Amino acid sequence: MTNSPILTLDRVSKTFSKSFAPAVDRISLSLNKGEILGLLGPSGCGKTTLLRLIAGFERPDDGAIAINSEPVAAPGVWIPPERRHLGMVFQEYALFPHLDVAANIAFGLQPGDRTEIRERVADAIALVGLTGLERRYPHELSGGQRQRVALARALAPSPALVLLDEPLSNLDVQVRLYLREEVRKILKTTGTTGIFVTHDREEALAISDKVAVMCGGHLEQLGTPEEIYRHPASRFVAGFVTQANFLPAQRNGQVWETEVGSFVANVAKDEIDSKETGESMGIGDGELMIREEDLHLQPDDSAPVAIRDRQFLGREHRYCLIAPSGRELHARTTSEPALAIGTRVKLIAPQEALRVFPAQTPRR
Ligand code: ADP
Ligand code: MG
Repeated sequence: MTNSPILTLDRVSKTFSKSFAPAVDRISLSLNKGEILGLLGPSGCGKTTLLRLIAGFERPDDGAIAINSEPVAAPGVWIPPERRHLGMVFQEYALFPHLDVAANIAFGLQPGDRTEIRERVADAIALVGLTGLERRYPHELSGGQRQRVALARALAPSPALVLLDEPLSNLDVQVRLYLREEVRKILKTTGTTGIFVTHDREEALAISDKVAVMCGGHLEQLGTPEEIYRHPASRFVAGFVTQANFLPAQRNGQVWETEVGSFVANVAKDEIDSKETGESMGIGDGELMIREEDLHLQPDDSAPVAIRDRQFLGREHRYCLIAPSGRELHARTTSEPALAIGTRVKLIAPQEALRVFPAQTPRR
């Protein structure tokens, strides 16, 4: 398997109106053959705009895009969408209502030998698990089945890259969980390179080989799901990707003091001194991140924290805790027996799981 990039973005920017911030702001990344990139970020952060730039429905103001090492958008270069050989799947099913499943899938194929088209359509239908439903019309299908048709239509021409814009967001949670596994399996089986846009962190972590986290048009972090989760590069990524508590903390040597106790957290020096985090760390203020699953509760009558409520989630309990200031914290644990509401608890967290971010991350 070659490792030449299928897609390269070099400082791609797009501003819709001079009076607004850029929708996409100097994004650079590359994607190798067969990789699935999850594009994750809150609504309005520029995910769809970035996909439309890659597809050729928008022109970048700046920067360059190359597909299979061929520039498709760059100063003086413009390849229109129909010549970029990409597959697309959208959130709304976007099937032709008057065409049956087979005809919808055949629509994306170049006219040619009828037997070959029939074979390609049959292969695509089998790939997405819809054999037997070839003659159904979109209104005779469930939402999940319609998205399978949309995926089959996108994959039938064997595109270099398939772009999926929140393809599961309209589906019921059960179908969504099942289909995200299916989509990954199908892309992996066919060796298709894909970009999967979602605002759902769990979906992004589950489906992707690499995750790109976007915020306000910027690329905040690019990494494997594990890197993003374990080593969030910014306060934003930490808050968006992990289920974590953030506590105001004052530095006292190696120790960070908070209203619920003192914690030792190794803060890498380059993190404190980086230009991103600015001066604010120098004065010893920060926000201590403790993931819900890293917080261990030790009953202690003299502790400043009490259990306010408890939810049973099947595999684990999730506790709502109340700190002296009234701030709520959350902890998730599989430890038994469950602790009673009202119990006072000391909070313990392993040093390696803790991170400190500047109190307020300055935005560029
Ligand atoms: P996301 O897909 O992450 O929700 P979008 O890419 O749709 O975000 O939008 C990013 C920003 O660009 C938003 O502020 C949105 O209002 C703006 N935007 C998107 N498309 C257009 C457009 N055609 N004209 C003007 N503004 C747009
Ligand atoms: Mg969008």
